Amino acid sequence: MEYGFVDCHCHISAREFEEDLEDVIQRATEAGVETLIAVTEEVGEFGRVLQLHERYPDLVAPCFGIHPLQVGGGSEQRSVKPQDLDAALPLFYQHKEHLVAVGEVGLDFTPWCAPTQQDRDNQMEVFIKQLSVAKELDLPVNVHSRSAAKVTIATMREQGISRALLHNFAGKPSVALEGVQAGYLFSFPPAVCRNRQRDKLIKQIPLEHVCLETDSPALGLEKHVRNEPSNIALSCRYIADVKGLSPETVQLVTAQNAYRLFPKANRC
Ligand SMILES: [Zn+2]
Repeated sequence: MEYGFVDCHCHISAREFEEDLEDVIQRATEAGVETLIAVTEEVGEFGRVLQLHERYPDLVAPCFGIHPLQVGGGSEQRSVKPQDLDAALPLFYQHKEHLVAVGEVGLDFTPWCAPTQQDRDNQMEVFIKQLSVAKELDLPVNVHSRSAAKVTIATMREQGISRALLHNFAGKPSVALEGVQAGYLFSFPPAVCRNRQRDKLIKQIPLEHVCLETDSPALGLEKHVRNEPSNIALSCRYIADVKGLSPETVQLVTAQNAYRLFPKANRC
């Protein structure tokens, strides 16, 4: 069975892609991307990601999720609040047959984003609520975790989550291995190529637990340059290099992993 690339975490419904989406999609397809797992961060994006799924049914696999950080009145990021979930909850159920996962959800305890205990408690409440939605709908979760690696994995285990992708994970290898034990997968964007900081982590996670992502439009090779799904080959080559494998092997196994985790995204 031949597979293309599966971009397991990208924001194709982001405003940054509105103007030249056709070109972005074409470059992705030409680069061998066959599935985009399209995550959302706030309820205002849900309609857009469903539209994209309708327009590119074989390519765009939609996820609904409320991110732990929300854009406040200005462009400042603030921690999510329980009421940010109110409008979203009924939509999960209403559109469940189209969804391949719940995400992007998670915890972000970066000090300037979650300065108070109340912020962290709010994030936790919203995360746990969405984990329970995922269980109820029998969907995997697509998870963000920053400055909260250990608590994110512990929370998912406590909540009985067995199918999860930890995207752009940057915790300690020992913490990642707790996630591996729980059956979780880990994906890495092109930004990992910027330096060798994540090599030890990537080496220690068994290939059967690794996926590819771009997190487009963020986390590209160069900071402040828009990233796009066609760059996924950079992640693939880098992981192959770190693990001493061929890029073809990494491409094949990560795609198999992705479809095992997100079975509804596999249209083969
Ligand atoms: Zn993301």
